[in-house]
Amino acid sequence: MLSLRRRDIVCQQAVELVTDYLEGALSRRDRRRFETHLKACPNCAAYLEQIRMTIQLTGAIEPDDLSPQATQDLTELFRRWRSE
Ligand SMILES: [Zn+2]
Repeated sequence: MLSLRRRDIVCQQAVELVTDYLEGALSRRDRRRFETHLKACPNCAAYLEQIRMTIQLTGAIEPDDLSPQATQDLTELFRRWRSE
């Protein structure tokens, strides 16, 4: 996207961060950058949702592996998207 500022992460980086994000393994700063990107990028938002569904279906990542913080962040994130 042309309007992206230089410090914004691009889709490829966002995609690479998804798993870490879901595992709550991102630093606070990376998580914020990731979320900022998702808010501006429906594609990556949809991708994250897909991964999350896959994890739920396959159990590749047990729910217990998700930190409460990550779960809370995701819930918060999706609530915001829906309301926008
Ligand atoms: Zn993107």
